[in-house]
Order: sequence, then C-alpha cells, then structure tokens
Amino acid sequence: MLAIEEIAGARLGVALLTPHSHFEYSPLSVAEPFDLGKAHRFELPELLEGRGVKTIIDALEAVDAERREVHTADGLTLGYDALLVTVGARRRSALPGAVTFSDSRAPAEVQRLLRSAAAGRIERLVFAVPPGMVWAFPAYELALMASAHFAEHEIPASVALVTPEPRPVDAFGDRPSAAVEEMLRLRRVAFHSATPVRAEPGQLIVEEGEPIPADAVVALPQLVAPQIAGLPRDELGFLPVDEHCRVDGPPGVYAAGDITSFPLKQGGIATQQAGVAAEAVAADLGEDLHPQPFRPVLRGLLLTGRAPRHLRAEVVRGRAERSTAEEGATRWPPAKIAGGRLGPFLALHGAPGGAPPGAVALELDAVAEAVTRPAGTGSSGPQPGGRR
Ligand SMILES: Cc1cc2nc3c(=O)[nH]c(=O)nc-3n(C[C@H](O)[C@H](O)[C@H](O)COP(=O)(O)OP(=O)(O)OC[C@H]3O[C@@H](n4cnc5c(N)ncnc54)[C@H](O)[C@@H]3O)c2cc1C
Repeated sequence: MLAIEEIAGARLGVALLTPHSHFEYSPLSVAEPFDLGKAHRFELPELLEGRGVKTIIDALEAVDAERREVHTADGLTLGYDALLVTVGARRRSALPGAVTFSDSRAPAEVQRLLRSAAAGRIERLVFAVPPGMVWAFPAYELALMASAHFAEHEIPASVALVTPEPRPVDAFGDRPSAAVEEMLRLRRVAFHSATPVRAEPGQLIVEEGEPIPADAVVALPQLVAPQIAGLPRDELGFLPVDEHCRVDGPPGVYAAGDITSFPLKQGGIATQQAGVAAEAVAADLGEDLHPQPFRPVLRGLLLTGRAPRHLRAEVVRGRAERSTAEEGATRWPPAKIAGGRLGPFLALHGAPGGAPPGAVALELDAVAEAVTRPAGTGSSGPQPGGRR
C-alpha cells in the first residue's frame, strides 16, 4: 500500500481485505519472556487514517482469475484490476513433546520455563528448529537471550540450540555465520547441527546420532501454505511467482511475503517483494515506470539479550565483507523487520525501532549472491530450515 501510494498517488484505488482490524507486529515477541520488549499491535483505522484505503474486514477464500473477482469467507464477491496476495503462512507445531513458540501465548510459556530453571527444576533448556519451511532466526535469539538471562541471574542451567542448518544462520553466508558462531560460544550456547524429531522426558531425539539431553524443549513452528482456491501452487503449496512477483498463470495476480514460493520466509524479504510487486502492479495498470525485478537482500537484527556482567566488552560484527546495504532501501531506523518504507512508517506510528533498551543486537547482512543462489546449490544457499 505504501509503495503503490508513493508510485501512483491517488490514481490507483486501493482496497485492503483483512480478517482483523489490527496489524500485529510480532518480532519482538521473542524478547517478551526476558522483559526486553513486547509485540506491538497497531489498530488499522489509526494506521490508515487519511490514506484513502478502503478496508474490508473479511478473508480471501477463492480467486476467479478469468472474471478478475475474489470470493471472501463471508460470501462477498469483489472485482479487481490487480490482486496482490499477501496472506502469509500458517504456523504448525512440528515437534511432539516440545513447547512451540508460535502464538501470543508462547512468551508466557517460555517465562514459565525460565522460572522452573530458577527454581532448579530445569537444568538443560533446548531450543529447536524443526525441519522443513522455517525462519530459524528466533531460535537463535531465544537461546542467546535465555543464556544471558541465566548468566545475569546466576541460574545454573545450560542452553543448547538444535537446528538442521549445517552451521549457524547458514542462509546469511560465511561472515555472519562465523559472527553468530562466536556469539554462541561467548554466551555458552551449545550448537548442534541435527534434525530434531521429538522431545521425550530428559532428552531430545534427533535423526542423526545420540539423543541430546533436555529437560525442556522450545521449538519453532513449521510454516505451511494456506490454500486459496483458484490459484496455482508449488509442490509445498506456496504461490509460484516470477521475478516481478507476478503469480505464474492468472493475469493480474501478484504475491509477496511468506505465501510465495521463495524459500526464505522473512519479514525483510516480504517487504522487498511487496515493493517489487507494487511496481509491477503500477506498471501493468499503466503507470509510467520500469518495474525493478526482485533482487533479495537478507538483513537481520539478532537480539542477544543483555550483555552478561562478565562479557560487557563483547563485540561481534556480523556484517558481510561486501555489505549489500547500498543496494537496498534506506536503513533508518534499524528495525526487526527491515523495510525501506515499512520501517520509517511504523516508527512514526510508535513501533519500537532497533534493539529494545538493555538488549544487545547483532546486525547481519548477507552477501547478495548467498541469498540469490538457488536452493540446494551450496551450504550458503537459501535453506528454509536446512536439511529435511
Ligand atoms: C517468532 C517469530 C519471529 C520473527 N522475527 C522476525 C524478525 O525479527 N525479522 C524478520 O524480518 N522476520 C521475522 N519473522 C518472520 C516474519 O514474521 C514473516 O516472514 C513475515 O511476517 C511475513 O510477512 P507476510 O506479510 O508474508 O505474512 P504475515 O506477517 O503472516 O501476514 C499475513 C497477513 O495476512 C492475513 N491473512 C491471512 N489469511 C488471510 C486471508 N485468507 N485473507 C486475508 N488476509 C489474510 C493475516 O491476518 C496477516 O495479517 C519472525 C517469525 C516468527 C514466527
């Protein structure tokens, strides 16, 4: 919406079809258990005031591409010239026996585990990334923050991270991976490259090798594609798009974000796709511009918790040698979801920018070719959750 508005002003009418009247900005939910931040909720009427956007509270159910109409859950039929599908992915628990960090109840669950550790009932806390389509970053943040929390409160519990990735934050490439590896070492988080299968009392069963000792396991959710009737899907159910984010097949249909078949399901990537799609929409509807193709740039702000007392001077740089910052959008303010338009817009509406006060963050940029290399062509390529 912000991109369309910037490109076409009031020449293109925009309608927003959304099941909720609010917009949940949840990346800071990982900081909630440690009292270092909070998920942020925006009310759409306030966010959209004066922007001329027609908001319809309902859900997209089916697309009739021939008639250029969508059908909604409440039975409405709406016509369109261009349809941009941004319905995201559904989160599914994938590790039996583990607490899944999935919805708004998850921070309280993790807080309960931290209290159990403080009371001596948990000695080994494990954070696990399941196989398949997963954005693995939050597991690193949770593990680092838990370890910092234990050090700060002198709780004698250990923290481990289990992930199918061959090395830490593999999708970012060599330098960021080495920086995170160093941070895990400094914070005494044990790193295991293994595919978790299920949590049992006292252990985490993995596909490769011996079980990993665990008194409690917190797992990330697997991402699955919601089905929208009338649209094509790839073998995993996601929407196949071309380099302008046009959905393969139906004319006038575009997609951005987690619902697309691009394997990295990350907010920064979603905002880049949204900008690309907006340019293609505007050009296809007659605006005078040359739409740019999708050239993904992977950026992450990794929350690592408060610096423990004995590590006050820790400095870890994650920036890749050839930083891609200049290729992308403006970097102000540093945000959990990097977006040239979204970041400043949300900051102006009160979103917390950068790391919450007291928390230490690692800024990571991937080398462009590490991100664009097709999946499966090397260890630095986009591996959704690593091995399957
Ligand atoms: C715990 C956690 C922490 C994360 N932290 C970060 C981070 O720090 N930085 C980062 O870049 N990424 C992060 N991510 C990933 C990021 O949240 C997603 O990649 C990003 O939100 C994807 O954006 P999206 O717009 O595609 O989908 P979503 O953010 O999921 O938005 C989809 C929207 O579509 C709506 N919708 C769903 N179905 C329908 C329908 N049928 N009709 C109409 N509307 C519908 C939903 O209500 C929702 O508002 C994190 C993910 C998790 C799970």
